Amino acid sequence: MNQAVGWLGSRLLLKRLRDVMATGAPAQARLDQIVRLVAADMVAEVCSVYVMRAGEVLELFSTEGLNQAAVHKTRLRTGEGLIGDIAAHCRPLALADAWSHPSFAYRPETGEDIYRSFLGVPIHRGGRALGVLAVQNKTQRSYADEEVEALETIAMVLAELVSAGALINPLEAQTNDGLSLKPGRLDGITLNPGLAIGEAVLHRPRVTIRQMVADDPEAELARLLTAVSSVQSALDDLLASDVIAISGEFREIMETYRMFAEDRGWLSRIREAVRTGLTAEAAVQKVQNDMRARMREVTDPYLKERLHDLEDLTNRLLVQLSGPETKSAPDHLPENYVLVARSMGPAELLDYDRKHLRALVLEEGSPTGHVAIVARAFDIPVVGKVKDILNRIEPGDTIVVDGDNAQVYIRPGDDILETIRHSISSRTEQRAQYAALKHLPATTLDGHQITLMVNAGLPTDIMAMDEAGAAGVGLYRTEIGFMVRTNFPDVADQAALYTKTLDLAGGKPVTFRTLDCGGDKALPYFHVEGDENPAMGWRAIRIGLDRPAMLRQQLRALIMAASGRGLSIMFPMVAEVAEFDAAKSLFDLELARAADAGAVLPTEIKLGVMIEVPSLLWQLDQLLTRVDFVSVGSNDLAQFLFAHDRGSPRLGRRYDPLSPPMLTVLHQLVHKTQAAGVALTLCGEMAGKPIEAMALLGLGFRCISMTAASIGPVKMMTRSLEIGPLAELMERLRHGDAHSVREQLRLYAADHDVVL
Ligand code: PEP
Ligand code: MG
Repeated sequence: MNQAVGWLGSRLLLKRLRDVMATGAPAQARLDQIVRLVAADMVAEVCSVYVMRAGEVLELFSTEGLNQAAVHKTRLRTGEGLIGDIAAHCRPLALADAWSHPSFAYRPETGEDIYRSFLGVPIHRGGRALGVLAVQNKTQRSYADEEVEALETIAMVLAELVSAGALINPLEAQTNDGLSLKPGRLDGITLNPGLAIGEAVLHRPRVTIRQMVADDPEAELARLLTAVSSVQSALDDLLASDVIAISGEFREIMETYRMFAEDRGWLSRIREAVRTGLTAEAAVQKVQNDMRARMREVTDPYLKERLHDLEDLTNRLLVQLSGPETKSAPDHLPENYVLVARSMGPAELLDYDRKHLRALVLEEGSPTGHVAIVARAFDIPVVGKVKDILNRIEPGDTIVVDGDNAQVYIRPGDDILETIRHSISSRTEQRAQYAALKHLPATTLDGHQITLMVNAGLPTDIMAMDEAGAAGVGLYRTEIGFMVRTNFPDVADQAALYTKTLDLAGGKPVTFRTLDCGGDKALPYFHVEGDENPAMGWRAIRIGLDRPAMLRQQLRALIMAASGRGLSIMFPMVAEVAEFDAAKSLFDLELARAADAGAVLPTEIKLGVMIEVPSLLWQLDQLLTRVDFVSVGSNDLAQFLFAHDRGSPRLGRRYDPLSPPMLTVLHQLVHKTQAAGVALTLCGEMAGKPIEAMALLGLGFRCISMTAASIGPVKMMTRSLEIGPLAELMERLRHGDAHSVREQLRLYAADHDVVL
């Protein structure tokens, strides 16, 4: 291969390719010509193009050097042979000795046995392989990075030809064995609950690049720089706008995102691509293609999210370069629409009109992804990780998004639509009923005052607390604020966040739980070596006590934030009283330090523990003389009580918290805390389900904490309940031997008109 294939060589070749593309010749003839040109220019004995056909099969479409008889005959499945491997991973493969590669699959009809070295690159769009472009040489040689880059650039030009649809029917590439037009149900993961119907709008940048090869690279560079600065200033405007002001978390996400717009690596890669002879648009697209290919390899969820942010920016840049008619959010959107995207950045979502946006469906996406956090603030259902949705859906199709069950129905039949419409309207009605309860007290029919609190982790949850009319925050999961950041927040950052939380709570009590990371809650910048059982491993207070500086910083920030007002802190996963003592002494050190510095201290301080680890149940007498309150983390408590992995799909609902063992533990906690005069609350999922909340009230709980959305249904149950007779029933049930007492409780509610 010609070692001089540098930027200049490829620029000349690109010009020639453009001329070929511009001829009106049939697509196959243009492809054959391109293959010949590339082989000659790169001094390769072989140049071949494989195109992806329906059913994930790569067909040899054109070759210079291999047997012509193999064209349209040789086929490889994705993943099969070197060609299949490149398509499967969407990444190049350069091999001095192709034969010794484990994926090598010899096809005798091609006559390729005399070629030793091999360089292949994917022809791709949006990270999806459309085909493979490969060159081969007889001699054993190593291909330079520059040569790989040159071939990748050529593959981009070919991607235009392949995706234009003249080589194969574009529907063939899309239909995935004809599945596309059938109705169907796809499963994903819940990123935000709720139910919605709408017309599908596919979020794809509509940028078609008209010119790939630049006439004047200097002028292209100048265009690029102008576009970059316009995108940057548009982001500055967005940051200054009201929409961002709604939440600090939101703002922070956008600020991180804005930093990417100045990422030197990203910009210099685009500049380099312009120098190879591409137009600014083509260069941006090339870098975007490379990035998508890289994204497929990345498994770290945090890194994946950051790469999505970069992709979002790339789209903005493409839109800027190609003019307003190409912007990704169309001006005319259907009355009720559901946005469907492979992935999306937070700013992209903001480009869409929110008034008529009913739901969001993502092929990728994760609960901590920025777009999911923003969508939650918009209160729309979001389902993520819906495999293949973009292949299965056409714009304008009717789509139902069931965020509660993590399901998406495409082109649903009339029966499904009828059921869903009915369900949506009864939910709307129910919401109105719950909203009407907002200012009414959570008092039972026999006069017991119940305190309903919310579980929160983001400022938006505190706003939801007010909306729901809750009495305060029973559990503030501080780790959520840590999880959405790029670096470990320092004391000042943490203090600012907690101050804001207290400000937003407007005087209502907030119980902060110290960092409960580890287990399933990984912090991107704090690596915890994998334990065999992470839920029982190095997590929560165990990390805090082993890394006292970390815990002390958090306690310091909390003391600063609560200056002049009440402060309530609880420690997660405490297994023995000694751990509470150790944590409390760290708190006392920080309090003394603040006092020495002359700071205004919190007015009333309450320290408590979460009851999550059963061992602590046998030290209640000692514990209750030390703490101001205890809060039952029923999710973890049930997990450890039944030795039942709370995330295991196989165990599912095997053990019911509404069963004698759990009810007896809870009863004991009520009894002991009452005797000791220590406040008791429960903040696990149990609190938010009306039937379980009813059981808790029957056992003697008077304060429970749940997600804001559960406040309405639980308040409605509370206001329809008489605790007296239920308490007697609970006493009988907890002494029984049933696997579950759920059914008896359901019957009790039905008999006594308790609204569940
Ligand atoms: C619990 O375990 O019940 C709890 C509230 O904590 P988390 O769900 O955050 O572990
Ligand atoms: Mg827990």
